[in-house]
Amino acid sequence: MTRSADTHCPYCALQCAMTLTPTDVAADAAADAAATPVTVAGRDFPTNRGGLCKKGWTSAELLRAPSRLGAPLVRGADGVLHEASWEDALDRVAASLRGIRSEHGADAVGVFGGGGLTNEKAYLLGKFARLALGTSRIDYNGRYCMSSAAAAGNRAFGVDRGLPFPLEDLDDADTILLLGTNVAETMPPFIGHLAGAQAAGGLVVVDPRRTATARLTADGKGLHLQPMPGTDLALLLGLIHIVIAERLVDLDYVAARTVGYEAIRRSVASWWPERVQSTTGVPALTLRRLARRLAAGGNVYILTGRGVEQHVDGTDTATAAINLALLLGLPGRVGSGYGTLTGQGNGQGGREHGQKCDQLPGYRKITDPEARAHVARVWGVSPSAIPGPGVPAVELLRSLGEPGGVRALLVHGSNLVVSSPNIANVRERIAALDLLVVCDFFLSETAALADVVLPITQWAEEEGTMTSLEGRVIRRRRAISPPAGVRDELWILAELARRLECTATFDTEPELVFEELRLASEGGIADYSGIDYAMLDRGEAVYWPYPRGGTGTPRLFADRFAHPDGLARLVAVSVRSSAHPAPRPGELTLVTGRLLEHYQSGAQTRRVPELADAQPEARAALHPSTAERLGVADGELVELSNDRGTVRCRARLTTDIRPDAVFLPFHYGDEQAANLLTSDAVDPVSAMPEFKTNLVRLARLIEI
Ligand code: SF4
Repeated sequence: MTRSADTHCPYCALQCAMTLTPTDVAADAAADAAATPVTVAGRDFPTNRGGLCKKGWTSAELLRAPSRLGAPLVRGADGVLHEASWEDALDRVAASLRGIRSEHGADAVGVFGGGGLTNEKAYLLGKFARLALGTSRIDYNGRYCMSSAAAAGNRAFGVDRGLPFPLEDLDDADTILLLGTNVAETMPPFIGHLAGAQAAGGLVVVDPRRTATARLTADGKGLHLQPMPGTDLALLLGLIHIVIAERLVDLDYVAARTVGYEAIRRSVASWWPERVQSTTGVPALTLRRLARRLAAGGNVYILTGRGVEQHVDGTDTATAAINLALLLGLPGRVGSGYGTLTGQGNGQGGREHGQKCDQLPGYRKITDPEARAHVARVWGVSPSAIPGPGVPAVELLRSLGEPGGVRALLVHGSNLVVSSPNIANVRERIAALDLLVVCDFFLSETAALADVVLPITQWAEEEGTMTSLEGRVIRRRRAISPPAGVRDELWILAELARRLECTATFDTEPELVFEELRLASEGGIADYSGIDYAMLDRGEAVYWPYPRGGTGTPRLFADRFAHPDGLARLVAVSVRSSAHPAPRPGELTLVTGRLLEHYQSGAQTRRVPELADAQPEARAALHPSTAERLGVADGELVELSNDRGTVRCRARLTTDIRPDAVFLPFHYGDEQAANLLTSDAVDPVSAMPEFKTNLVRLARLIEI
């Protein structure tokens, strides 16, 4: 006997559809997931059309991984983590939280969430922090991912939905400009949607590396621009300069649908193509060719990814990409547009329901009295019971264990000692905590430092909803029972809230939580009030905003933008010379990024044998000319260092990287963690850290 569940991949925001079939129902009935083989089959869905990448194909291995946690762990007086009962583990957490709160105040407890949590978990986590803990100190790892694009979208359009159109719209594109995104490796089924533009010779990739995506432009199928790392903003200002100078602006659109044109015009006046060439290394002729192609009409899309967003000027860079799109009249025109490619599985929904330090459900501002009153009504409390704004992730982590800072931290869905910037400092701050509680499937690098580890269900064992990179709400469905010793995070939050004597409701059934989320989101920017599980189970294509009694919104901005006057903002931005210092003699620019085989911090994919065998360790990608200068041969051990830390790994020689840069994947921990070298300086608008352009020295290590 078999039974199947139609669900979606546990990893990235493409949320490829898959069918899971447990092949031993008897073992499943005994709640023995380790003994329940599950087969994975790609399922036809508009985003993946039946395709999966190797991460998706092997995802069921996560369920059966030998290192999966099967019981809570509590650190004993001997300093070692020991198995404990759920009762004892939760009692210890609650008692510690009560003690810390009474001694240091509610803001001495912090919560760190994740962009992989279901909508229901993200929502309940925000409510738990504000009501059960009474703390303002909540933020999440999406701060490291989507915050710059989100800030730019909110600033320009008044709303932040990654793709404001269905992904399938890209199929009919004549030209697609991809800025800082390597979809061919991060979400391979995506490239099916690039085929039209590729065939039309209109695929343009901007990336300092010749990535798998950049290689799609070979043989006359498009263009690859390989700027110096950290010069994306200058490149975009140069494109805008050409568009204005060559009278390629859609003036009717700009007049009817935007404000701010004059300031933009002035702000790019000095970014003539030859100056951009000397700043970025991209020939002026190529820039002119690209600008003309973008303005030539047809269906044109501009898409940004983390490569241009994960910077201290990431918001301004994403803003410049939006400015370019607006000047060309793309957003809101059917068959054209601007979008940002969300990375984490629920990176979209995870940023809508209240995990952010300044946000309430429905993508509402926590400082807005009307928003507070609405959410307070749904939660059955007075608005004054909801704390005010907290602090973003990096600031929250900097405060750990400091006087007046956070003394107890609860971590959900994040491996923050691998994925945060400047992690030597994060590890130091975590060591100063009175209490660290981590919910995870595995003993991740962060869980290994915890006082209490709570083992949780995985995607194939739970119900819920996710919101994909196109703002489409989809169902996650249970295929197998969880192992006996693990619990759902909704249950954990409810149990902790009860122990903390919080009288607010904390449902444990995902559908009930979603019903509450609907109410809390009603009237907000991300309005889910018209959505229910039944319509998702019928397979309806449901995009937010979807007001009660209304319809969903696959395409935003057809008639108006989300600002009160309906107009988009052209926001003048400028290059800050201090943002990306050029390498000094002996230095290289470190570019971090992903590999096909791994996801985020690698806490999951490094435990899947096929993926770990293919990419078992970090390798520093170096141009052969750089390697020769430094006396490094392919496969030799090297040391990358700066004043924040040191990484030791093997070198991989490739002409895909510029001679002035070195590439390191960020999926590995311990001494191979790329974020030992990254800076925790942040973007002044989005609080995004600088992940992409950090200066390092590189030297060959003598093996003995
Ligand atoms: Fe999963 Fe993303 Fe791969 Fe699709 S592309 S199978 S969602 S990791």
